Amino acid sequence: MSESQGKIRFVELKGDVCIASATCCVVAGEIFKHDAAKRTTNMLCKNGSLTQLKVAVEELVLSEGAANTGSQDAALSSAAGMCPVAAIRLYDAEGRRLEPDSLEAM
Ligand code: SF4
Repeated sequence: MSESQGKIRFVELKGDVCIASATCCVVAGEIFKHDAAKRTTNMLCKNGSLTQLKVAVEELVLSEGAANTGSQDAALSSAAGMCPVAAIRLYDAEGRRLEPDSLEAM
């Protein structure tokens, strides 16, 4: 049984698009970690590794909200929605991209 039952099932941080603004780190600091020295941002996995690759939400550390609700959706949606260059990509269980395409038409 998965501990994250939200609609968002996979997350990817496009390193070639990210400008390391660290906005996502403010919005969802448990998940997104900024490395000022390397001028990059990664996602923190439960096993302690950092990644920009497409991973299942279950592999990521839980956001504070998810500890109560079992879902990472709110934190991930906020982070993706506030990313100035739409580098955070969110996908559903079928691999369809939820953001930045369909949730906010900007
Ligand atoms: S908000 Fe977007 S551009 Fe800024 S660090 Fe996060 S992923 Fe990169």
